[in-house]
Amino acid sequence: MLPEKCAYCGDMVDIPFECNYCKDPFCAEHRLPEDHRCVKLTQIRAKKFGQRGVIRDGGPNDSGLKKFFRKFKT
Ligand SMILES: [Zn+2]
Ligand SMILES: [Zn+2]
Repeated sequence: MLPEKCAYCGDMVDIPFECNYCKDPFCAEHRLPEDHRCVKLTQIRAKKFGQRGVIRDGGPNDSGLKKFFRKFKT
């Protein structure tokens, strides 16, 4: 695979991450839709609200999930 430019910050990336949604190459920092302000983000968000908790990408849902599990530990 050839090095590519991160579509967000323009850095050269040896092993680019391809966004599952917009299919653009990104560096490790910007591979998540939230991190590169993915053009599909509004669609992803809409989906998330449509089917709650089905998509987990370490987004804002994460802290809520931890709280949820803490209840069971104690
Ligand atoms: Zn980047
Ligand atoms: Zn994207």
